Amino acid sequence: MNAEDLYQEIILDHYRAKHHSGLREPYACQVSHVNPTCGDEIELRVNLDGGVVADVSYLARGCSISQASASVMSDLVIGKTVEAAFGLSDEFTELMHSRGDLQPQWEDELEDAVAFIGVAKFPARVKCALLGWSAFKDAALQALESGTATATKGVPHAG
Ligand code: ZN
Repeated sequence: MNAEDLYQEIILDHYRAKHHSGLREPYACQVSHVNPTCGDEIELRVNLDGGVVADVSYLARGCSISQASASVMSDLVIGKTVEAAFGLSDEFTELMHSRGDLQPQWEDELEDAVAFIGVAKFPARVKCALLGWSAFKDAALQALESGTATATKGVPHAG
């Protein structure tokens, strides 16, 4: 199996059996994001505990790429500090804007999210893959700002 087939398989596996899917309580913030160019929608909740991403839950509708990416994202960020999760979000955004030029460090840090390198060759699909990540970042920032999260010191400020 070549890398492209393997990556395709990882994306389809996440699409068929989404990890952490469904909206759960407790949560600090809920957001709704849409990708109008494709028709993808996501409702996403984040719960923080002492600067750590305690839970991410979501309802994703739309194409397989947007749904699979939300699943991979939730796997990667749950249990990480908000700072580390935002770092992964930045790296994934870079990967999606790489036009398919894979950097070796992404394979270690982004795990299954590296599978989207094939998608990065298609500019029209980049927003599909980024939808879940931008919803996560938005919800986490709002949770930090609203002060519903406890003990957020050490976490970078919005903007
Ligand atoms: Zn889409």
